[in-house]
Amino acid sequence: MRVSEFAIGAFFLIIGFIIFWHGYSVMQLYQSPLGQLGLAYSEEAKEHYENAQIESTIGGVLALGGFAACLYGAVAEPKKEKVEPSGKEYERHGLTWERKTAQPPKQTEESVSQETKEPIYCLYCKEKLPSDAVYCLKCGKKAE
Ligand SMILES: [Zn+2]
Repeated sequence: MRVSEFAIGAFFLIIGFIIFWHGYSVMQLYQSPLGQLGLAYSEEAKEHYENAQIESTIGGVLALGGFAACLYGAVAEPKKEKVEPSGKEYERHGLTWERKTAQPPKQTEESVSQETKEPIYCLYCKEKLPSDAVYCLKCGKKAE
């Protein structure tokens, strides 16, 4: 369901139908014997009738087009709005989302110094652990 297409279609369907109906009713008037007589003898009536024919044709086309748009709006899948994925992996570039180019985390002076630190040892099992370890990799107890 696409609301905008459906609404536009419905609008043209109604407008087209009104124009068509007006032209059609005028044409119907000339179907009577009196109308036929008028068509045969009056140039003005002939012109009036031709205008009505054009009117009903235009109205019919408008109504059909409107109906088609209406139908399309009713059955078409709604436009998929791309939502920003979590984690901010994507950046908006105009109308599309693009994956951010992977950037390695900046190494702060602190992390560099930590890596060069002496390894620590578990207080419980004396396992050698990386300096930034929170829990012992061997016994699972809290390091330090
Ligand atoms: Zn341990």
